[in-house]
Amino acid sequence: MRKSPKSLSVIVPCFNEEESLPALFERVEKVAKDWPEDYEVICVDDGSGDQTVDLLREQHGRDTRWKLVVLSRNFGHQAAVSAGLEAASGEVVAIIDADLQDPPELIKDLIETWREGYEVVYAVRKKRKEGPIKKAAYFCFYRLMKSMTEIEDFPLDSGDFSLLDRKVVDTLVAFPEKNRFLRGLRAWSGFRQTGLEYERSARFAGEPKYTLKKLLKLASDGLFSFSGVPLRLASYVGLLVSFFSGLGALVFVVQKIYPEPFLAMGLPIVPGFAATIVTVLFLGGVQLLFLGVIGEYLNRIYTEVKARPEFLVAERVGLAKSR
Ligand code: UDP
Ligand code: MG
Repeated sequence: MRKSPKSLSVIVPCFNEEESLPALFERVEKVAKDWPEDYEVICVDDGSGDQTVDLLREQHGRDTRWKLVVLSRNFGHQAAVSAGLEAASGEVVAIIDADLQDPPELIKDLIETWREGYEVVYAVRKKRKEGPIKKAAYFCFYRLMKSMTEIEDFPLDSGDFSLLDRKVVDTLVAFPEKNRFLRGLRAWSGFRQTGLEYERSARFAGEPKYTLKKLLKLASDGLFSFSGVPLRLASYVGLLVSFFSGLGALVFVVQKIYPEPFLAMGLPIVPGFAATIVTVLFLGGVQLLFLGVIGEYLNRIYTEVKARPEFLVAERVGLAKSR
């Protein structure tokens, strides 16, 4: 059993969360007595247009353990978490959402599990409080992802809510990758990992900040940066289609030479207009689909090659410029 960690950083990405923040402050204050004395809460403002930054500044004024990173615009949740990881200095680092869907009360249990010798303790969603369509989509995505990645034990139904050891944080921060899918990178990084089940509550207030577009981007980042299967799929489908068209051609040749048995089955030779159209459209569709797949990878290669930073920091409150 390890000793209790000397210090803890809690990262909270915030995008237009003015409605949830007061409750977050209150909840964290209540549970923080179970945390290491030396703790910090790093809120990352991801380009909010509401009172989020002001509220966070006030909170820093009340308690300097609350620190703030302001990004120059909305870079997305994954980038905001990366900014937090970069700023965090704790021996262990927890990541939670601002909307209280990840109960801060669980952090002490995550720490207890870390003490048993794990470097990554991720929270697994036992129950979701989202609508049936979203729930089904999440369910399918995680299973598809698991079946397609090369990561052996990709944890199902676990988001970014987790506790990471300093070693893991340092490796994640050092990754040069830009299209980040943190829960994938976390699983990929190895070390000793384990999950802890919890019930995911409903969002405390406000609308979800993950729009459908942002969710789709997250899902495609996950799939395309952790799997080459979609590329390989093109060859498989190509092979299959060629095989069946070969078979079809053979049947037509046989029909031409021995039309009688076909006639007996009620299959006279008809100039196959419909068949031609269907075949052409089908092949056209398959080609476009796989051009799209290639485009997905190409786009990612392009982004990585440009090597633009994943986020830009406009201001830091209570944090040194660089660690
Ligand atoms: N978030 C963010 N940038 C964004 C979208 C969301 O920092 O562009 C934050 C948001 O403030 C919240 C967390 O990411 O703390 C999760 O977002 P949300 O609750 O909307 O996602 P969901 O729980 O529906 O997956
Ligand atoms: Mg949420």
